[in-house]
Amino acid sequence: MQLIDGKAVSVRVLKECKVQVEELVKNGCRPGLAVVLVGDDPASRAYVGSKERACNELGIHSVKVELPAETSQGQLHEVIASLNEDPDVDGILVQSPPPAHIDESAVVLEIDPDKDVDGFHPVNVAKLVLEEPGGFIPCTPLGCQRLLGDYGIETKGSRVVIVGRSLIVGKPMAMLLMSRGLLGDATVTVAHSRTVNLPEVCRSADILIAAIGRPEFIGAEHVKEGAVVIDVGINRVEDSQAKRGYRLVGDVNFDEVSGRCRAITPVPGGVGPMTIAMLMSNTIKACSQRHGVEVSKLA
Ligand code: NDP
Repeated sequence: MQLIDGKAVSVRVLKECKVQVEELVKNGCRPGLAVVLVGDDPASRAYVGSKERACNELGIHSVKVELPAETSQGQLHEVIASLNEDPDVDGILVQSPPPAHIDESAVVLEIDPDKDVDGFHPVNVAKLVLEEPGGFIPCTPLGCQRLLGDYGIETKGSRVVIVGRSLIVGKPMAMLLMSRGLLGDATVTVAHSRTVNLPEVCRSADILIAAIGRPEFIGAEHVKEGAVVIDVGINRVEDSQAKRGYRLVGDVNFDEVSGRCRAITPVPGGVGPMTIAMLMSNTIKACSQRHGVEVSKLA
């Protein structure tokens, strides 16, 4: 069994990003990422902090906009409008989840699609579906695809089962892997909570991708001998032995599954670090496209 080391691949991606940032700066443009945080959710704050640190390490201009929890939908839209106009900002994201009174899908519509580095705007969703270049692909599926590529895992003709149909992970993951070309061309099945006989469906997979949000849900009965397992899940489970009182586990029962599969991502240290790395990569792409300055493709 091979461990797919997302941390190591993310370091590689970030090294490429650093070279690309230097190329852009030499051509007079420094990439900029604005992250908007509404409210004071501790997990969201931690995510925003890691995005800021990644920007600083790469020399990407980072803008953090912190808004109180009672910010109205209209006020948030105004902030986004000003970031859309800001020439120093190439990428904009609003940290999820915002407080309950904010309509997240309406917020996404306010972001200039050319700065939508999360890839959630309908224009970018359409570009992915239509296989048009120049759009932004959501960072987590993009990171999973890069992991498969770096580990030489063939997607062409492979049977992929994705458990989960969210707009953030499951659906774009399916689109990406069924797209024509390198790291695509897979035969994809998307399963969800209404799928009948999920273990049997999952056992048909050469590559099984779990994006469910249920701790250690995928067990040995879901995995074909020799399959590749990508665990997108990040779940906190109580653990009195752990320093913080909890530990992070994936959607896959690692101990049960690792003995059956050919390769597997751990949690933490698998898909998680790739998400931020791909966000940096998307920000660089946004800057390169907005300024018409090409950067070398290092992957
Ligand atoms: P969502 O809650 O949006 O989607 C979960 C999906 O799982 C839904 O499609 C749901 O089906 C399906 N599901 C739920 N229960 C079952 C079940 N019993 N059997 C089959 N399918 C089921 O979650 P996300 O896609 O946003 O996130 C999924 C996981 O990935 C979470 O653990 C999250 O923390 C993690 N994540 C990790 C990231 C990273 O950087 N590594 C980034 C984003 C997410 P239905 O549609 O029918 O309800």
